[in-house]
Amino acid sequence: MAKRFIVGIDLGGTNLKIALLDLKYRIRHKEVLNTQRFTKKEVLISAIIDSVDKILKDNNLSRKSLLGVGLGLPGPIDYEKGIVHFFPNIPGWKEVKLKYILERKLRLPVFVDNDAKVMALAEYKLGAAKGSTNAICITLGTGVGGGVIINGRLYRGLSNAAGEIGHLPINEKGPRCNCGGRACLESYIGNNRILKEARKIFGHVITLEKLSYLASKGNHKAKAIWLKVAERLSVTLVGVVNLLNPDCIVIGGGVAGVGKVLFDNIKKIILTRAMGVQAGHVKVFKARLGNNAGLIGAAIMVKEEKGQ
Ligand SMILES: [Zn+2]
Repeated sequence: MAKRFIVGIDLGGTNLKIALLDLKYRIRHKEVLNTQRFTKKEVLISAIIDSVDKILKDNNLSRKSLLGVGLGLPGPIDYEKGIVHFFPNIPGWKEVKLKYILERKLRLPVFVDNDAKVMALAEYKLGAAKGSTNAICITLGTGVGGGVIINGRLYRGLSNAAGEIGHLPINEKGPRCNCGGRACLESYIGNNRILKEARKIFGHVITLEKLSYLASKGNHKAKAIWLKVAERLSVTLVGVVNLLNPDCIVIGGGVAGVGKVLFDNIKKIILTRAMGVQAGHVKVFKARLGNNAGLIGAAIMVKEEKGQ
């Protein structure tokens, strides 16, 4: 039977998304489960297996129609060995051979990688970075993730751990980060830090959505907070632009939804602070694939691995 479909899975700290995609990466069926329901590692793995079975059954498909299963996962992953090193926001996972476990149970080819990397693949193949050769993709959220495309391929590094833009230090001294380092970009522009600063400035708890809304309406306090985020992110990007000379930078994730205040300032700072030749050519785009980027990227990974 022709293999016409791929199952893409996007695991986050809040949601577990499972989708059936065709070979053109169109989503044919999608389910969203609450990750926090699955408190134990074994239960979460069973839920992944059950959801693959369910999506096949609901669509009247057999395993033979699947090219494979791809997973984008929220933490450092050894893509080649199929190992989850750990998840910063889901307890109980340490050096888990997830690819092996799932392949044995599902009897299908399984591929796993970091969520920001599969999102970078998706934006590069079908989204904002389509047509570029050297692209930097960043996802802003509780964590700050990244994926680097060099010469049209995802750059993985020696231990498949490259691309951790959120863990580039931006100061000599600074807060301890959960990666073990200090003064990482993520500690300064991760959602938690933004919310903490907003609470201090406004004198009460405020959501990111409200903060974005206020900035779009011209509120000076809110605009100042986003300007600070843009400045901190740009300091890192100036270094990345000088080092790698990319043709585009794609920024996605919840915080990127703030739009103009963030993007205009990032573009301005890169233009004024990066070296002339590099800065003159780089474009800064908002990610285009939104919530489905992880699912699409996971499917792209499967198709590329199977050489289709
Ligand atoms: Zn760090």
